[in-house]
Parts: sequence; C-alpha cells; structure tokens
Amino acid sequence: MASLHPLIDNGITKGKPDFAGGKLRCHCKTNPVEVTVASNVVHNHACGCSKCWKPAGSLFSIVGVVPRDSLSVTANPEKLTIVDESAAIQRNACKECGVHLFGRIEKDHPFKGLDFIHVELSDEKGWQEPQFAAFVSSIIEQGFDPSKIDGVRAQLNKVGLQTYDALSPPLMDAIATWTGKKNGALPANL
Ligand SMILES: [Zn+2]
Ligand SMILES: [Zn+2]
Repeated sequence: MASLHPLIDNGITKGKPDFAGGKLRCHCKTNPVEVTVASNVVHNHACGCSKCWKPAGSLFSIVGVVPRDSLSVTANPEKLTIVDESAAIQRNACKECGVHLFGRIEKDHPFKGLDFIHVELSDEKGWQEPQFAAFVSSIIEQGFDPSKIDGVRAQLNKVGLQTYDALSPPLMDAIATWTGKKNGALPANL
C-alpha cells in the first residue's frame, strides 16, 4: 500500500481541544528554522495538491491553518525563502532542507489572515488531527496511477477521512460566500 502520510498511515491520533500550540522546526540538523505558534491548528487536513509540502515518499501533505498573528519565526529566519511569489499562498520554505515552515496570504483572498502549517514539524502532541482529505484526484497529475485512486480513497476512508477532489464543502462554501460578497451577488453583511 502506498504511504499516504506518516500521520495517517497507522490510524489517526486525536488532538486535544485545549492544546495551545507549539514550535515547528525544519529538517536541518543544525540551525533549523523555528516557528512558534501560539494556537492550535484548525481545518487540519490531508491535501493531495502539487503545491503543499509533503514529506518524502508520502502521497499527501497534512496542512491546517492558524491565525497569522499567532505565528512568529523564532530562529534562523534568514534561511527562509518564498517558493513561488506569484502563488496565492506564499509558502515560506527553508533554503537548505526544502521544508515549508508556513504559507501566508498577502493578497485579497478568502483565507487572508490565516497561515498554513504542517504540524508534523512539531514535537508537541495535541494538535488537531486531520479532519478530511482534499484534492485527492490531484495526485494523479503528479504521476499516481489513476486506476489505483479508488484504493487511496478507501485507505483514507478507513482511517476516518472523507475524501474530496476540491476542499471540503464548508470551506468551498466559505470561498463562494466571500466571492459572492465581493462581486455583489450577496449582501456584504451576510
Ligand atoms: Zn531546513
Ligand atoms: Zn494543498
């Protein structure tokens, strides 16, 4: 069986509702970049898209969001570089090991104000567990055999994750609501 991600291959460990955050570190053996997050993650999920950082050998990323104000770079910030300046989510990666420490949105966007992080970079236990799997079909674009994709969906379902080929319905609804307000189809105060 393919490795989905180390945090889900052997079943999912529930987080703690009162968990208050922790430190994330890149994979550098010396002088790792360190990010301190003063909140738990929300909307944590498996993502199959080609942009989110995945550990070696994994088909999925595990990614969630925290309020931007709760995140600060607390060691070796000079090692960070933005992977793609033109992307909506500016993924800040370590220049040496390639790990993405956080993704930040600077332009007008439904998720502006939230930073995207990977909790496996933390030694602390208690981060919210993955809630669903997004962009599952996208792994095919990255070379996964399309005839085996339903097996991947079954693996995800088995550990309790609903699978989607975009984001989950509540997040797609949030994006559509933001867009509807912006284009005037919905009242701004909805
Ligand atoms: Zn590094
Ligand atoms: Zn993604």
